[in-house]
Amino acid sequence: SVVIGVLALQGAFREHIAYFNELIQQNPNDYADYEFNIIEVKTKEDLSQCDSLVIPGGESTSISYIAERTHLLPHLYEFIADESKSVWGTCAGMIFLSRQLLNGKLNQKILGGLNVEVSRNAFGRQLNSFEQPLDFSSFIPGCTNFPTVFIRAPVVTRILSNPVHSQEEDHHKQGVIMTENPYVNNASVEVLYSLKNYDSQDHDLIVAVKQGHILGISFHPELAGDYSFHKWFIDEFVLKRKVHS
Ligand code: GLN
Repeated sequence: SVVIGVLALQGAFREHIAYFNELIQQNPNDYADYEFNIIEVKTKEDLSQCDSLVIPGGESTSISYIAERTHLLPHLYEFIADESKSVWGTCAGMIFLSRQLLNGKLNQKILGGLNVEVSRNAFGRQLNSFEQPLDFSSFIPGCTNFPTVFIRAPVVTRILSNPVHSQEEDHHKQGVIMTENPYVNNASVEVLYSLKNYDSQDHDLIVAVKQGHILGISFHPELAGDYSFHKWFIDEFVLKRKVHS
């Protein structure tokens, strides 16, 4: 069977699991060739069963502290480095997958995997939470009106070059958290979506990126009432990797 694990330390993991199960139940013909098992991942034993891992939204600091306390961190480092797997981080999950983090909390750990710098809570107070229909049809066929939900969301502030130059790593810059995972993802980072001219200086804000087997998005598709993103993840990440490995 195809096992999709959802990291279940904190945050919206139940919602992700429900969305995958509902999607599969409602599209029996699309998935007739596969038997899916969507599981909660709390331990290294759970993780070792997975073909794919989803890291939900929630609070990245809590997820990191719990992963550390339960000794799951080194296993997560290893999992994301395995390019035969697929990985998807949503909101706090994208923060956790970044290689470099701004506005992180003391001792917060990040997994690396996405060669990007992410900033936590990157939208101002007025925009703490907002919903906006976005056109994702450039990468998800037919998905012209996806109801995105942003909640104290992060954004990607920089794509890091590979190999990383020391001046880019910002080792000495205060308040920048770096991953301790030695793994470097050598695929190229693709920006899937940016909010155009969004901030006060009219900068674009990157809210969805893909790098090889890893996907990161700023918002909460598991609260959207729309399964398009989950379907695309299964079709383009989970099954492609599972079938080819
Ligand atoms: N602000 C949260 C964090 O830092 C992320 C918010 C979310 O996942 N909705 O982890």
